Amino acid sequence: MSNSSVHGEFALIRDFLTGLGAPREDVLVDIGDDCALTRLPPGFELAFSIDTLVSGRHFFPDCDPTRLGHKSLAVGLSDLAAMGATPAWATLALTIPQAEPLWLQAFAQGLHRLACRHSLRLVGGDLTRGPLTISIQVMGLVKPEHAILRSGASPGDAIMVSGTLGDAGLALQSLLSRDKHPAAHLDPQLRDRLERPTPRVALGCQLVGIASAAIDVSDGLVADLGHLLDQSRCGANLELAALPLTEQVARVVTQQDDWAIPLTSGDDYELCFTVPQENLDQALALDNQFGCSVTIIGQVTEAPNIRLVLPDGQKMDLSEQKNGPTGFDHFCAD
Ligand code: ADP
Ligand code: MG
Repeated sequence: MSNSSVHGEFALIRDFLTGLGAPREDVLVDIGDDCALTRLPPGFELAFSIDTLVSGRHFFPDCDPTRLGHKSLAVGLSDLAAMGATPAWATLALTIPQAEPLWLQAFAQGLHRLACRHSLRLVGGDLTRGPLTISIQVMGLVKPEHAILRSGASPGDAIMVSGTLGDAGLALQSLLSRDKHPAAHLDPQLRDRLERPTPRVALGCQLVGIASAAIDVSDGLVADLGHLLDQSRCGANLELAALPLTEQVARVVTQQDDWAIPLTSGDDYELCFTVPQENLDQALALDNQFGCSVTIIGQVTEAPNIRLVLPDGQKMDLSEQKNGPTGFDHFCAD
């Protein structure tokens, strides 16, 4: 294990990528054969999703490998959470520039810990040489008709969000300016929100039967809520004063008089969901029950597009902001 040359592809798989996550009785054939074989419990459907993280695009090349292992799985778990599915299995397609046992061990440890927390087993994958790229396919279980879709929102539903918005974006901004401001202090908690996001799996499962639609916020609230509204053929009023913000993000919004960080920055991995009025008490009772707050931030409308309700009550239709003077022009940036 002392140097990479002693590890061929199969030894790397055996030594670092086998036995990750929680053992499960429904795994009939684990890593080691041509396919994994799992048993789908009677009365459940399979929810699955794949995400790829590319070095230099989705994470800094010098990112701590344990954190990277965590995040690579967390982004998939967040998709399962948004559907109300319970995580079960995952596969990992890993492309690495060279066989570095210590790096792989740390990466595997980050993935393993998060997988165990959610009783998920890594049942297979692929290992190739090339620019560092990580693809994880997650698979989860959900009862028929129980999956929460993006398309289920109706006018009058409350729009809610878990946790706080913009922390990861602020951390990213700070890390990107490291060269210019090397001494700038980055709060470790803020950095964790970028590098070790917490997928809201338990909350997502609890939202089954309560939420009419859900999406996870990976590309920014406005973009992701927009996808949900498009699929539901609705619009929304979004109350800026109601957005749940940490002190740091609130300070930046005030200082710069710009809501871009909480509205448009990605990587939050919070859940944005809609709740019919008759389920609202049930939804509000979930506040702080699963490690995060849940907050009402607006309402679904019949009128299309998203209208921001500014703290002074003024309304601003985002679809009319392309060349507006309000600092929202980056909404249309590529
Ligand atoms: P094949 O050539 O038949 O596709 P491989 O030789 O690539 O199989 O892989 C051997 C076994 O190791 C398979 O069970 C595969 O799922 C598993 N495996 C390969 N790469 C990984 C990885 N990155 N993580 C987890 N399991 C892996
Ligand atoms: Mg094969």
